[in-house]
Parts: sequence; structure tokens; C-alpha cells
Amino acid sequence: MKREEFRELMCQQLGTEEADRLIAALEGDEQPVSVRHNPAKPYAEPQGREVAWCRWGRYLPERPSFTRDGLFQAGAYYVQEASSMFVGYLLESALAGKQTAGLRVLDMCAAPGGKSTLYSSIVGERGLVVANEVIRTRALTLADNALRWGAGNIVVTSNDPSHFSSSLVEWFDVVAVDAPCSGEGMFRKSEEARENWSPDNVRLCAARQRRIMADAWASLRPGGIFIYSTCTFNGMENEENMEWLCQEFECERVEIECPEEWNIARTEAGVAECFHFYPHRTEGEGLFAAIVRKGGEGGRRRSPKPRRNPFGEVEPKVRKMVEGLLVEGNYHFATIGESIYGYRKELWEDVRCVSEQMSVLFSGVKIGELFGKKFKPDHSLALSALLRLDSFPTWELSEEDLGRYLHREELGCTSELSEGVNLLLWRGCPVGFTKRIGQRTNTMLPKEFRIFI
Ligand code: SAM
Repeated sequence: MKREEFRELMCQQLGTEEADRLIAALEGDEQPVSVRHNPAKPYAEPQGREVAWCRWGRYLPERPSFTRDGLFQAGAYYVQEASSMFVGYLLESALAGKQTAGLRVLDMCAAPGGKSTLYSSIVGERGLVVANEVIRTRALTLADNALRWGAGNIVVTSNDPSHFSSSLVEWFDVVAVDAPCSGEGMFRKSEEARENWSPDNVRLCAARQRRIMADAWASLRPGGIFIYSTCTFNGMENEENMEWLCQEFECERVEIECPEEWNIARTEAGVAECFHFYPHRTEGEGLFAAIVRKGGEGGRRRSPKPRRNPFGEVEPKVRKMVEGLLVEGNYHFATIGESIYGYRKELWEDVRCVSEQMSVLFSGVKIGELFGKKFKPDHSLALSALLRLDSFPTWELSEEDLGRYLHREELGCTSELSEGVNLLLWRGCPVGFTKRIGQRTNTMLPKEFRIFI
């Protein structure tokens, strides 16, 4: 029954022939596999066919076991569906080669972090991405993925979108809403998406999306870029919402060039340029994306008055010690509780402002903790692209020891490690720390990063 209702909706939207091709693709079992490499961790030569709209994206001929791969665990790449990478193409097109230093991006619905890590690579180490996820458990996964990515320019928050519209008004240069949706584009990947689909749920999603869009819009500065995306096909959650946005608020057109051979279907809604990825036309899952610029004058608003200050000061001698662990650059160091965090100086004021307003789960690089005079480095430092690789003795893991490390087991190479903390590498890429104490090792891999397969 549901299938028929869905088919009818798609027939209205695409015509019978195209709707049937779409449904056949959704019911087929061909699922492209793709990954996106981390430009801050260029440890492996990207393999596979390039994703046309993303220079870091590659299609793989088959699905390997990502969980057991050291480079995946080390954040050298992210497993991301190819269509999703298109939002990065939109952002780069809108920025048109402009400086990204000082840019503030908000990714309002960010978990598990696919698009946030992409934006992080685009804005580079001098731009900031605030990755927000309202559902706490999902926000924790997002924080783990931001840590793995190790770029140092992601702040993970867990707030309701309304907190942004009330506390960081017109503060961001770019706001992205990758909205929770009815998930029609995920039908071939997810049985849950198929089971939960109904016309009523589509209407419910569309109404919720408008609320999120309105809050997100309020936190965008005049002249800023707004990117809206869903992984669903129907017009109610897509074009109709963009039309509504253009009617309610002052929106301007952003021209996007998009080569015909990519087979992306283009539509318009108000002044918005809209893009549909249909699995029977493009190699990837379903995606809808749209872009507009916020009209009006005035630029960014000033940062609001602090509500709280979670940071403490770092003593000069501690600062000197931790500074030596990072690659050359200007840093600000601060404590949160017992832990020491490092931030690129250019990002610090913005990170502080977000931390004073929002519930922050992760930011910058968590360098470690001091117990009296003893310093314990954090997993975040090992996976940070800002770590100086000669700060610790290093050890290249064998395949067996990589498996043991990821399972948090005793390593076979113990007697060959230096006494104390060692930085473990897999194909040259840091995967974490371990501490040798005499004839045994104490793993420093946090429990939440342990694998079970
Ligand atoms: N952008 C993510 C990525 O690329 O990895 C995927 C985001 S997913 C499509 C939408 C997210 O919105 C989910 O993580 C969901 O928990 C979150 N969400 C659910 N209800 C929400 C609400 N009322 N306001 C904001 N976000 C919500």
C-alpha cells in the first residue's frame, strides 16, 4: 500500500516512466561505495574513481571492512555517500575562491558528521565549523568523528536550533541545514526508512523542517550563504520548503554551474537553485540540495555577552610544554576541567564565544591532562593533524598489532617500544598512543573507540 502511495507521489513529480525507473533503482541492490579523503592527513594515495563534484571523493569497487582499517580509525578518510558530497561543491561554488580565513560555518543538523567534516576541509584550518546535533547520543558520535577528523577547526555543540536563533543572531557566514526527513533517498539502504514512510510522516517532516530552517536563518548574517539539503525526493520537504523560505525571508539567488554530464536534475523554488540526485540517473543515493544568499545589509552582528565561561587559564610553564607538541603556529591554550585544550589563535575568539553560549562537547585539540607533574596525552592529540610527529617515540604497527590495538589488547611489539608513551602509526598515520611500563603496555585508546569485530 505504502509503495503505491509513494509511486503515485513520484509519478506526479517525475512522470510515470521516470518514476518507475527511480523505483526500480531503489529496489535494486546496486549500492555504490564511496569515501572522502582527509586533506589534513595525506597518508594514503586515494584509490578509486574520482567523484566528479568532490576532489577528495572516490568510488570504491567494493565495500571493504572499514572498521578494521587503521586509516579509517585514524580519520584519514570518512565513508560518505557520493551524492552527499555535493553540498561541499555548492559551498565552494558560492565562495568562488574567496578567502576562507575567519569564516564561520554552522551545520545545524550534523550527526554523524559527514557534511561537517567536509565543510571543515573546505574552510581549512583558519575557518570554523560549528557542528550541532540536538540528540545527545548522536552528538556524542559526532564528537568522536570530529576528534578522528583531527582538523582542529570543528566545535561540536548539542543544542536545540532555537538556541542559535536566540543566542547567536546573524553571527554565521554560512548556515547549512541537512534536515531530518522522510528518507526516501535511503530506501535501498535502509529498511527502517522504507518502514517509516507514510504521507503523514512526509507532512510532519516538512513542518519540522520549516521550524529548523527559520531558526537556522536567524543565525545567518545578511549576505551569508544558506544551504538546505535532505535525502528525500518529494517536493513537500524540498521545493515547497524552499519556496516558503523565499516568501518569508529576503533571499537572493546564488548562480551555480553544474555540468550536464553529472545528470543532476535541476529545479527552482522562489529564487533558489535546487538540485536532485536520483539513483537511476546519478551514481549515489538520493539527495536534494538548494542554495540561496541572505539579503539585507549590515553583515555580522557582534558576539553576544557571555552566559558562562567554561575555560580556565594555563600556567606559562605548562603552556611551554604543550606548545612543543604541536606543529609550528600560534595557539591559544585553555583548560576545561582538568584537561588542556589547544586552539589556533585565529579561531580562539570564535570558539570562546560559541562555548559561552552553547553546550559544547568537543572543540579544538584536547591535548591531555596533568596529574601533578605527570602529563597524560589524549587520544585527540594523537589523531590531531596539528601534532608534531617527533613529539613522542613512534612505532609502525604490524597488521596483527593494529588489530590488537583496536581491540584494546596487549601488543605483541611491547618489548620493542620505548618506555613510557609511544605514538602508534599505521602506514605512517598516527592511530593512537600506548604506554609501555616494563614488560606490558597500557592502551590509551578510549573505550568508545574500541572495535568488536
Ligand atoms: N548532516 C549529517 C551528516 O551528513 O552526517 C546527517 C544529518 S541527518 C540527515 C539529520 C539530523 O537531524 C539527525 O542527526 C537528527 O538527529 C537531527 N534532528 C532530528 N530532529 C531534529 C530537530 N528537531 N532539530 C534539529 N535536528 C534534528
